[in-house]
Amino acid sequence: MERERLDADVLIVGAGPAGLACALHLARLIEQHNKSAAAGGATELSTENIYVLEKGRELGAHQLSGAVMDPRGLAELIPDFERAAPAGAIDTPVTDDAAYFFTEKSSLKFPITPPPLKNHGNYVVSLSKLVKWLGGLVEQKGVNVFTQFAGASLLYEGDGIAGVITEDKGVDKDGKPKSNFTPGYELRAKVTVLAEGPRGSLTKQLVSKYKLDGLNPQVYSIGIKELWEAPPGCIQPGFVAHTMGWPVPFDMYGGGWVYGLQDNRVSLGLVIGLEYHDPQFDPHDAFQRYKTHPFVRRIIEGGKLVRYGAKTIPAGGWYSMPRNYVDGGLVIGDSGSFLNAQRLKGIGMGIKSGMLAAETIFEALKAGDTSAAKLAAFKQKVDASWIKKELWETRNFHQAFQGGFWSGMFHAGLQFISGGRGLKDPWRVGPGHERYHKLNGKPLEVERFKGDGKLTFDRLTDVYHSGTRHEEDQPCHLVVADTNICADRCTREFGNPCQYFCPAAVYEMAEEKGQRRLKINFSNCVHCKTCDIMDPYQIIDWVVPEGGGGPNYEGM
Ligand code: SF4
Repeated sequence: MERERLDADVLIVGAGPAGLACALHLARLIEQHNKSAAAGGATELSTENIYVLEKGRELGAHQLSGAVMDPRGLAELIPDFERAAPAGAIDTPVTDDAAYFFTEKSSLKFPITPPPLKNHGNYVVSLSKLVKWLGGLVEQKGVNVFTQFAGASLLYEGDGIAGVITEDKGVDKDGKPKSNFTPGYELRAKVTVLAEGPRGSLTKQLVSKYKLDGLNPQVYSIGIKELWEAPPGCIQPGFVAHTMGWPVPFDMYGGGWVYGLQDNRVSLGLVIGLEYHDPQFDPHDAFQRYKTHPFVRRIIEGGKLVRYGAKTIPAGGWYSMPRNYVDGGLVIGDSGSFLNAQRLKGIGMGIKSGMLAAETIFEALKAGDTSAAKLAAFKQKVDASWIKKELWETRNFHQAFQGGFWSGMFHAGLQFISGGRGLKDPWRVGPGHERYHKLNGKPLEVERFKGDGKLTFDRLTDVYHSGTRHEEDQPCHLVVADTNICADRCTREFGNPCQYFCPAAVYEMAEEKGQRRLKINFSNCVHCKTCDIMDPYQIIDWVVPEGGGGPNYEGM
């Protein structure tokens, strides 16, 4: 196929905090360089040769996070961010924090908040608004930001990468071109930066092709979130609570949060480690039940659901960090494991990883050398920065919960006093999908949660509140390599976990003429990537849909 080719110096795939921090910091370095280059006769660089791709319909549309931000990274990028940020992006400083242990009917407040859950000095933010603001600053520098474009495949060259091919637009559900067909662009760059968020589809290809996995493969959690307008006076802005225990079973990793925002809005959610044993466990169901706990109910009852969203979180930390440089390529942000799972903090670290990538790329462009040997400076910069210190101290944290809550707390305590070492270091783990137990005679069908329509909701109502939209007449972006496995082996062995782990009711097992068949409602997909991670046979491949599709997390 004839494709239009565009050449850039730097191509950044993904306009989240990491990708945009990389673009902004690089553009500033280039501006400074050009001032002195003009006087000294050195070669100038151009910010117009930086391209950023974003698959969402607009900047910030796919940005979902808790979100309490440690401001360290943003303060390095924009020292006066508190004054400069637009209304709502930095919603409120944290005014009070607390940790609770939940049983089904009661809660016990910890006498002191455990240090990792202390949030004084942090801010409750709207990540979508924050990203929209950062994107505007990037565009002001002359960087080309293309929304509604996704990187569909990587261009490989030698032992590295040389850019991406964007998705073809105007293809019908059978894969045939429609009247508006436009082939994807061939975007070539000296350096391609993958900042796709967790389980990026290009990052997955890259890590697999060059075997870049760290000591452990990446492991994930899923975060399910709702934003509410609560009755006045039910929660103070800046109040941040984290909860442990119910409704998360003790053999699993997980916990909840309740954050107070301005104007009586409340962010609440549940995080579940994606390595549980029960293939019929339903994270969405668990989150809905979480809201019926007296502590949570008291805050939101009588209020209104405003928005819903779900995303995965890379939880593996330091030992799951892939090699993040190849010839012509870097991996940053959530894609590169730059997230502290113990503190549930990734925005600031993502920003810092973007800034360090920008400094690496700047030096590489000046030297005219974008080989892996030159780009390896990124890893050295990470090692010398606060990222390494923070991730090193929590390097075995998530792994410690493989044996369940109580043993996890025991090991986490030992790790805390031994600088992250604990009893086992390094603590090796495998991918989460390998930890399912087989059904072994358990009933195949489980009654599904319906919700009362006021406090609790079914998945379709929640999907409606995510603003998700996809062009219906396009190929399904959830590619299942062999649906016979779904209808036969997976039914027998695991009862089709895709029906339960997907928080957007995308997967259904339907009966047709006495045959069981997988039905995929792809237009509901909120792009969380859980299916790509937790399918027991690894036969689901999440590929990019036509750009512009997906959720709209405005205000989240
Ligand atoms: Fe998440 Fe996959 Fe469901 Fe989409 S189909 S919402 S990526 S689990």
